[in-house]
Amino acid sequence: MPHKVTLIPGDGIGPEVTEATRRVLEASGVKFQWDLVVIGKDAQDAFGTPLPSDAVESIKGNKVALKGPVTTPIGTGFRSVNVALRKGLDLYACLRPCKTYPGAPSRYRNVDIVIVRENTEDLYSGIEFALGSPEAIRLRDFIAQTNIEEKVKEDSGFSIKVISQTASRRIVKFAFDYARANGRKKVTAVHKANILKFSDGLFLAAARELARKYPDIEFEDVVLDALCMQLVRRPEQFDVLVLPNFYGDFISDLCAGLIGGLGLTPGANIGDDMAVFEPTHGSAPKYAGQNKANPMAMMLSGVMMLRYLGEKKAAYRIEKAVTEVIAEGKNVTYDLKADSDVDTAAGTSQVADAVIEKLKGETNKRD
Ligand code: NAD
Repeated sequence: MPHKVTLIPGDGIGPEVTEATRRVLEASGVKFQWDLVVIGKDAQDAFGTPLPSDAVESIKGNKVALKGPVTTPIGTGFRSVNVALRKGLDLYACLRPCKTYPGAPSRYRNVDIVIVRENTEDLYSGIEFALGSPEAIRLRDFIAQTNIEEKVKEDSGFSIKVISQTASRRIVKFAFDYARANGRKKVTAVHKANILKFSDGLFLAAARELARKYPDIEFEDVVLDALCMQLVRRPEQFDVLVLPNFYGDFISDLCAGLIGGLGLTPGANIGDDMAVFEPTHGSAPKYAGQNKANPMAMMLSGVMMLRYLGEKKAAYRIEKAVTEVIAEGKNVTYDLKADSDVDTAAGTSQVADAVIEKLKGETNKRD
């Protein structure tokens, strides 16, 4: 029986990296029945909404989706469909492994960090009040009536940070369960509870409380700014990081930078009974349609999807093939060339060809 999977190519570089990944996944011998859906600006233009209900229904039905990046307009226009999808389907855990691959342009060795990012609340709760709106004026008045000494300036807009005990407990539990199931030794909870006592304070309390139930896993907490410094100095000391949504967003990109860039960082958004797999990177519009983008983050997201589907052997084979292509350094995109040399770089589709060649070579060797 083929696996029924919702396929969302996205926009910008999305369609190219998705096609490269689809080819590699199929070359592994695993059978798929793809259900192609469109979201984002193309859906807005065609159907008048960036997140059509048939796209959401497809994921709910199949329980698994492979998704390319989708552009979010800055400042104005529709809200992020990426955030809407994660929240709407309650895909509360964002899992982003970052590890050094030999041959990738990184000044570090032995980085092997798994980021577990809360996906449904925090500053991305979507609770925002624009400057001059009746809600912003009421909120300012409310704050003025409380005992808070700090005055809010009249020309203020508001984006509300919301952290709940429920979401904090479940993401920390996810991180510890992941650590235990995957032979990980340590979970580090990241926060700014010294300043944000009532939001990050809740998150930290949840982490400390849960940690007591996992005596086999080492636990520590670290303040966000200290984490940034320590990640740059000695990233090898970290194992599983669990973070509220907002910090998880930019620590993901920081960790991508440690291992050679966004072209190498896969991801998964996981809920209780469904998951959407997508790379950490965005739609990189300046490279759209140029066959330049690195498809490996998307391919490695496909590897995570295969593991989720129980196709462990195929997952292992594809990751091994990708690792070998990186190590050889010949058929890699510009971002994996030490000097970002576009002249000697391979294109997106060539990378897929090279990975497929490795898969075929391995099959022939076994035959
Ligand atoms: P981005 O990740 O798209 O790109 C930043 C830079 O990283 C690019 O200019 C490029 O130099 C490099 N890069 C990214 N992916 C690459 C790849 N596969 N191969 C080679 N180089 C790569 O970040 P951005 O420019 O901040 O965002 C662009 C758009 O993507 C925005 O609209 C943003 O909202 C959206 N976005 C979507 C998602 C998602 O769909 N999950 C995630 C992040 C950003």
